[in-house]
Amino acid sequence: MSAIKLHIRKGDKVQVLSGKDKNKKGKVLRALPRENKVLVEGVNIVKKHAKPTQKIPQGGIREMEAPINASNVMLICPSCQQPTRITRRNLADGKRVRGCKNCGELIDK
Ligand SMILES: [Zn+2]
Repeated sequence: MSAIKLHIRKGDKVQVLSGKDKNKKGKVLRALPRENKVLVEGVNIVKKHAKPTQKIPQGGIREMEAPINASNVMLICPSCQQPTRITRRNLADGKRVRGCKNCGELIDK
């Protein structure tokens, strides 16, 4: 029952490390642990041809985010606002939480 876990979770703020959106920051919209990918708001925008719908009968081009590799982003610590590596900590109640390697604050509260 060992679930695959990413160091990034939905709702995290991250910075992109490489690629066309290098240094861009955004919020994680979705984490895809199976694919080791994340979907980040405003990052890796692709144009998709949309099928005509009742609302938009002519169809058209829709811009949307495409997932990027989770290793290409770094978590931005909510406490020190710096891109950081994370440490794993075990709390007294057995819960595992992430900590900031920069400032030492817990990221998951
Ligand atoms: Zn920090």
